Amino acid sequence: MYDVIVVGAGPGGSAAAKRCAQSGLNTLLLERKKLPRDKVCSGMVMGPWARDIIQQEFGTIPPEILVDPGQLSGHMMHVPGAQPQRILCQTPLAWRKDLDFWMIQIAQQDGVEIWDGAKVMQVNQKAGACTVRMMQGKTSQELKSKFVIGADGGASAVRKSLFPLLKVQYSVPMRECYGGALDLEKDYFHWFFPKYRPRPRFGLNHKGDCFLIEGSGIKELRNEIIQILVKYGFNPRSKAIWKDACLIPRLHEALMAGSFCPAQGNILLVGDAAGLLLPITFEGIGTALKSGILAADSIARSIKEGKAAAGIYLRKSQSILRAIRCLHSWNKKLEQAATKGSSELSKALKAAYGQTLNVS
Ligand SMILES: Cc1cc2nc3c(=O)[nH]c(=O)nc-3n(C[C@H](O)[C@H](O)[C@H](O)COP(=O)(O)OP(=O)(O)OC[C@H]3O[C@@H](n4cnc5c(N)ncnc54)[C@H](O)[C@@H]3O)c2cc1C
Repeated sequence: MYDVIVVGAGPGGSAAAKRCAQSGLNTLLLERKKLPRDKVCSGMVMGPWARDIIQQEFGTIPPEILVDPGQLSGHMMHVPGAQPQRILCQTPLAWRKDLDFWMIQIAQQDGVEIWDGAKVMQVNQKAGACTVRMMQGKTSQELKSKFVIGADGGASAVRKSLFPLLKVQYSVPMRECYGGALDLEKDYFHWFFPKYRPRPRFGLNHKGDCFLIEGSGIKELRNEIIQILVKYGFNPRSKAIWKDACLIPRLHEALMAGSFCPAQGNILLVGDAAGLLLPITFEGIGTALKSGILAADSIARSIKEGKAAAGIYLRKSQSILRAIRCLHSWNKKLEQAATKGSSELSKALKAAYGQTLNVS
């Protein structure tokens, strides 16, 4: 019997597990993939939650974990027909494989037991005890714990176990990695809005000796991407070195309406599993870390006070919901700005993205 089983070795899982172990709880973390593993992500440590929680919980990110250019100077918004808008914001840049592995190793040093290659299939709870069914290779095992933290990302198996009837729509962002560099400032993350609207959009950033084209819109915008990037030296015949994609659950409306509450009894969902990405930029490292910490603290308090962990966690996570609500309201404002022309849209995008980056 473990005190806590944490599912998933992303930022949400490592922060939650580390904090549980530090509170003296016997903590097991289960990760489906072999570690270290990569994650579809730009790897920008952006916003105060990400920056401050990493610093407080894990320390300064070692330079070898960062990838050239190491620190971005900020973000640049490109709307056709308008001057590019810069948002100045120092942002550490890493491959998630390196960043997440660094954090999970620190969690392990703090006493978290970690099993990788361990895929959770189903989670149940009865009379205050949880059962976690998982597969390691071809072997199926049932584990017991008092609490479970589901930090298993967008397509969360823990969420599906807890809310089998919840209907979830997903976005499918993709990444394409090309060798070399384009004639764009390498220390900026570039957002392009080729349709004169906030969406569809695509992002471009340089990492080491390659550059990445990213976003949910890249299939739909193929012709526009080529037309725009050719101006910066992109060879339209070049082939991506690799491509990948993932699922992002679209749960903001349900979270704001209260029709989906990411916890029940002794099972708490954090990060992408709970749909807690910030609207506008879809930054989620900061919210994963923040919710991971809140979930761990809620469990510690639940044990101390004998109150239900879910209730404590749902109250604590109101700060994240407030940020989501506030940023979500930008969606309408951005659509309205788009009807007033490129320059208005460009200014509104700078304000909305700027607010997302500074949220805490
Ligand atoms: C294209 C793109 C770019 C992005 N760029 C940024 C960015 O620059 N900055 C930012 O802050 N956010 C960014 N995000 C969002 C960010 O990647 C996520 O919000 C963040 O990774 C969420 O962390 P998490 O810990 O909740 O989940 P994850 O990081 O997804 O970790 C979940 C873990 O759970 C494991 N897992 C899944 N299922 C199981 C199972 N059944 N059993 C056991 N383990 C399981 C997974 O293998 C994974 O290791 C981006 C997202 C996308 C798609």
